[in-house]
Amino acid sequence: MVCPRCGTDVRGNERNCTSCGNDIGYPNVRAAKELQEKAALADRYKKALENASKRGCGDVVVAFMEELKSSVAVICRSVSKVKELVSSGNELYASFYQLVGAGARRLEGTKMDWERRIADSIIFPYYEQEVRFASLSLDGLGATAYGGCSMVLKDVAISERATAFEENSVFFCKRLNLGVANPLPPGYRATWEDRGMLATAKFEPRLTSSTTAAGFPAILVGSTGQDFVEVHIFGTLDRGSIERILARKPTTEPDRILLEEVGRYSKVEILP
Ligand SMILES: [Zn+2]
Repeated sequence: MVCPRCGTDVRGNERNCTSCGNDIGYPNVRAAKELQEKAALADRYKKALENASKRGCGDVVVAFMEELKSSVAVICRSVSKVKELVSSGNELYASFYQLVGAGARRLEGTKMDWERRIADSIIFPYYEQEVRFASLSLDGLGATAYGGCSMVLKDVAISERATAFEENSVFFCKRLNLGVANPLPPGYRATWEDRGMLATAKFEPRLTSSTTAAGFPAILVGSTGQDFVEVHIFGTLDRGSIERILARKPTTEPDRILLEEVGRYSKVEILP
């Protein structure tokens, strides 16, 4: 891409023009806006609609797409992590690489660390440290395998800088056998505005003529709770980014106290 102000060549990982400082836009959003990405996604979406129509569930798929217009990004963390974030105006939600780089966190020493590093370098080359992960949700519940508190992010906090991705990006890279000889194919990421197209293209095969709107949230989280649409957010988040928090009823006294503390700073919905 070329800087519209001074004509300098801007690289994919750069947020600002290196010659004039002009803000060129978020790298993940620019990547999702590339013509071949948009065309490939539009093609997948069109095929999904055609397929649904042949299967006699076109109406259900259109209703699913309609619901997705109000879908939200959710980050799941433990109640203690959430308490730290919401109880201070100075606390930032740092990315994994920022924490490791600052000496504030160790690698987990697992195969997943290594796989995550490779997946991130394929999907966010040289800007992985800026990306925060969330999942797409219709009811505010996120991927609770990552923590019992679902933090629903405000649309205004992310709509300009979030992109949606087909699935957990590590699982995706493994499934498609991506690597140095096999780059990321187009059509599996979308701007925030186009997240409904992506999710519809992905989940269309799981919708049938008997699926009702009440079943949509569970379909979007995936049957394993891990087969979600991943959301990538460029840059900083803090407690001002959070709209509300959903949490299951705490089972221990320390968790009950922590959740009560969270409730002093943020809107909390306790689930049964
Ligand atoms: Zn410039």
